Amino acid sequence: MFIEYDLFRERVDALLYRIAGACRTAGRDPAEVTLLPVTKTHPAAAAEYAIRYGLAAVGENRVQEAVEKRALVPGALRWELIGHLQSNKAKLAVVHFDRIQSVDSEKLLTALDRAAGELGKKMPVLLQINAGNDPAKFGAEPAIAPRLLEFALARPHLQVDGLMTIAPLSPDPAVAQRTFASLRAIREGLTARLGAPLRVLSMGMTGDLETAVTEGSTLVRVGTALYGPRE
Ligand SMILES: *Cc1c(COP(=O)(O)O)cnc(C)c1O
Repeated sequence: MFIEYDLFRERVDALLYRIAGACRTAGRDPAEVTLLPVTKTHPAAAAEYAIRYGLAAVGENRVQEAVEKRALVPGALRWELIGHLQSNKAKLAVVHFDRIQSVDSEKLLTALDRAAGELGKKMPVLLQINAGNDPAKFGAEPAIAPRLLEFALARPHLQVDGLMTIAPLSPDPAVAQRTFASLRAIREGLTARLGAPLRVLSMGMTGDLETAVTEGSTLVRVGTALYGPRE
């Protein structure tokens, strides 16, 4: 049994309250932080709930699952890919997503740019950076971020909105804090060097969203706190 809408609404309210609290602590304007509900593994109703609440976008981590779900959910909702993408699925991803957050190689940038060109689309992307230097995570190494960004900015059919990271799984909250601070520092370095504004910093999930907001996140990707545990 999937959760009822009323429970979802209460959870979104509670989460927005938590985000606002973290913003207050950090001296930030809550309007700078967007909540992205992560609907992966959950039924199409999860995305319908997001629309009904008035949220603009949802996150999915697998292309095929999102394609099937999106077909069941009419309406003005943007779909963002947050999971690893292989170059051979670039075209499918460009057709079915409104933004791709998990771009971490020149090979993938090339494939996405070509697909977007063929479809006459300017594809918004985020560069995923492995800011926590976690061997278990995808994402470009921080050292190659400047080269990757330069390459991305030269792709005519892509629009680079910002950066994304996933903190290493750790019982020590300082690990996530360092990871997020590192992504923000990388953004500042890249902006100074290449002049790209990189407005979006996608960081923070159910377990570490307050830390992420304190460190400058503009987009928190939340699944469990909204929809409950995944099977
Ligand atoms: C699943 C997922 C999330 C959401 O995680 P929760 O802990 O359930 O909030 C966020 N970001 C990415 C990249 C994910 O794959």
